[in-house]
Amino acid sequence: MYFAHDTEVALVAAAALVNTMTNDVDELAEPPALGRFLDEHAYTGRRDGTTAELTAVRGLRAELWELWRTGDAAVLVARVNELLERTGARPQLVRHDGWDWHLHVTDPAAPLVDRMGAEAAMALVDVVRGDDLHRLRTCAADGCRAVLVDLSRNSSRRYCDTGNCANRTHVAAYRARRRDEATARPVVRRAGRAPQPGLTARSEP
Ligand SMILES: [Zn+2]
Ligand SMILES: [Zn+2]
Repeated sequence: MYFAHDTEVALVAAAALVNTMTNDVDELAEPPALGRFLDEHAYTGRRDGTTAELTAVRGLRAELWELWRTGDAAVLVARVNELLERTGARPQLVRHDGWDWHLHVTDPAAPLVDRMGAEAAMALVDVVRGDDLHRLRTCAADGCRAVLVDLSRNSSRRYCDTGNCANRTHVAAYRARRRDEATARPVVRRAGRAPQPGLTARSEP
């Protein structure tokens, strides 16, 4: 675990929200789709199930996407502070349903968009305080615009989990390597150079 548990849950949910749109298909096209997203990410509290609610959440999604990609701490700080204020964030420690102490940042009866926004903003507070902006990333796979939060200890995660990006990229790299080897071999033979002893001298005792 890199951040506090509830921070990680909130960051993963925020990335997932952004990724309902990034690759050109809007997965939150209708209110029921939002309901499924909320179930999947275990959001509790008020849900209206209205088009107005969905529109508001889509607005938040666009906002979070910009925040994710800014890479500029000063910009992020200003936007996070604004989001905390606008959503009426009011952190309270709670313990429920088998979850140990964690933060709830808004009243369960507050509008969904405010609760989602406040939760994301509180998690981003931890990102800023820990100087971890570089952990908010865009997927390294060609043609993928999904975002991810790198929660690995050694900060090594490069690919999103919306599709099969890591695997797809590794397979492509493997094929490219095979192709290079296949074309490189005859060239080496034609050159006919013997290995130069001087180059391997260091590995000898
Ligand atoms: Zn809770
Ligand atoms: Zn990806």
